[in-house]
Amino acid sequence: MSSLKRGDAVRRAFNGSIRVGLTFDDILLVPKKSIVSSRREIDTKTKLSRKIDLNIPIVSANMDTVTESAMAIAIAQLGGIGIIHRFMSIEQQVSEVLKVKRSESILIERPYTMAADRTLGEAKEMMSEHNVSGLLIIENSKLQGILTSRDIIFEDDLDKKVSELMTPRSKMVTAEEGISIDEAKEMLRTHKIEKLPILDKEGKLKGLITSKDIVKRREYPQATKDSKGRLRVGAAIGVKDDFLRRAEALIEAETDALVLDIAHGHSENALRAIARVRDKFGDVELIAGNVATSEGTRELIDIGVDAVKVGVGSGSICITRIVTGAGVPQLTAVMNCAEAAAEKDIPLIADGGIRNSGDMTKALAAGASTVMIGSLLAGTDESPGVTILRNGRRYKVTRGMASIGATMGRQLREKGKLDEGLEEVVPEGVEALVPYRGSASEVINHLVGGLKSGISYSGGKNITDLKHNAEFIRITEAGLKESMPHDVETMK
Ligand code: 5GP
Repeated sequence: MSSLKRGDAVRRAFNGSIRVGLTFDDILLVPKKSIVSSRREIDTKTKLSRKIDLNIPIVSANMDTVTESAMAIAIAQLGGIGIIHRFMSIEQQVSEVLKVKRSESILIERPYTMAADRTLGEAKEMMSEHNVSGLLIIENSKLQGILTSRDIIFEDDLDKKVSELMTPRSKMVTAEEGISIDEAKEMLRTHKIEKLPILDKEGKLKGLITSKDIVKRREYPQATKDSKGRLRVGAAIGVKDDFLRRAEALIEAETDALVLDIAHGHSENALRAIARVRDKFGDVELIAGNVATSEGTRELIDIGVDAVKVGVGSGSICITRIVTGAGVPQLTAVMNCAEAAAEKDIPLIADGGIRNSGDMTKALAAGASTVMIGSLLAGTDESPGVTILRNGRRYKVTRGMASIGATMGRQLREKGKLDEGLEEVVPEGVEALVPYRGSASEVINHLVGGLKSGISYSGGKNITDLKHNAEFIRITEAGLKESMPHDVETMK
């Protein structure tokens, strides 16, 4: 290349000057006059996507060390939503979605059932796999009986037939389709039962109402629910291979939102895949990412997504910026994308890099509607994986979905062996230990408490006020040092 051409290329790359990219630690929100006397007056309602409302702006990441059904249930109960990861078979992912959908609802439309000629061993296995305390016994959709943990508590013979152990239909209390929730509650109370099967006129099973679900409705008033009173859940899909089959199965399982998720969402591959999902499945709620620029955001919105996920290289376990040199510091990325998203009123999810409630407040103030959290939730009871004891402290494992460990896991699961040329894989994520943090609800309640205080400092009462009032001040390293506990020895 001649020196003239080289000069042109350099000028183009710099566009006259180099922009500054900032992230959470580079700025603070300038305090404004507070207008609330208690955090209880503050509302954290927001939108996940065009049609899905949330009571808290928290989404758990679609990572295999973060979100399966247990996390998705915990987070939806508190008013956020979980996205089930895609690094498992289609059947497994559907089963995780169904566990969330069946965990709590006014009417469980598809309760777990079994035939009467099955054995106790099979029944126990099904109960433990799906974490339920009872199975409805049916034949040709007609109710024959119920098998609950009470029926089998002292039963050791695993070959015994369910028909010998179940409580038969004649001794059961059932109700007809169309019963109201209050009527059902009254029947459960007067008959002192926990499960009320709902039948049609011919005795065919139409659903199940349980006392546990009625209690949970009171316990979690903020829960994220669909129109049938079931917890909402999202699920991730990719852009290659079986992604359309996966999408179809997830839609069939009534997943509330599909998250088409790849590291570089502003790509022909992603745009093509989004168009195909839209084309095939019409108005399914579709979220896509990840992007870090206004151009990327606009292209995703133009092709028809209902929310955009923002973050390239921002994740705690991510090394994309080191490996590729590409990325945009997360606060600037959110601000740039927010400008484009606001034109079409499409919510943004700020994905990655959230370490505390301050980061979350800043991301929302910068224009995001929700934050997606990975590692901060990976250390909780509800994340997949076991706790590890090291030097007297408890940890859990987290890993980037583009780490070498996750890639090997994927190949072993899909092909039963490792691909040749594994050494040529360039990982963009790492594996790491995170401190054990107790239950997800503790972490989330802390985050929400901090956010509410942040909204109050911003002089508002809700997330819209927070965005509207936001005035960022850029700080120096000395300012950041001052923001932390300093000149004291902190106690663990
Ligand atoms: P965290 O909350 O842990 O800071 O960030 C979580 C986010 O990191 C995820 O939602 C996802 O967008 C991103 N992420 C997960 N695994 C990887 C990976 O292997 N490489 C990169 N570049 N990003 C990842």
